[in-house]
Amino acid sequence: MNQRPITIAKIETGIVIDHIPAGKAYLISQVLGLNALARDTGDIIAIGINFESPSMTKKDIIKVENLGLTREVLNVVALIAPMATVTRIASGRVIEKHKVEVPTQVGDVVLCPDAFCVTNHEEVPGKFLVVEKEPLTLKCHYCEIEFFGPLIKYKEKLSKA
Ligand SMILES: [Zn+2]
Repeated sequence: MNQRPITIAKIETGIVIDHIPAGKAYLISQVLGLNALARDTGDIIAIGINFESPSMTKKDIIKVENLGLTREVLNVVALIAPMATVTRIASGRVIEKHKVEVPTQVGDVVLCPDAFCVTNHEEVPGKFLVVEKEPLTLKCHYCEIEFFGPLIKYKEKLSKA
């Protein structure tokens, strides 16, 4: 396959999330709350979709001009893109590179599929246990329903916290 020479501009300081399955970058930016982050901080966020890679036919890539995103926060990416890698860059140099890991617990970024769950009626932030990584299966902390596959619906994270 011909590699088309299209790249996203380099960032001097920030985070590169690479090896995202094609088409998942928007969902990841939603779950990480990158819209809110950009609004609050003015940081540059670049989202690339359908880039060509040697190992995957197509992939997405996200660059965020912000080093404040912790490993813990970024592990949420593993729910959607288990093979994603995170590279931290400071002053143009790579300072850390690691794979995301599926967390044991997930916060208020997922919706409980049980319509009667307290999280769907009151201002209670969602809290879920990861009971299985493959296939990804979550259990609601409040109503204890277990769910996986298309029942896992992500909400938009609206703040950095
Ligand atoms: Zn629930």
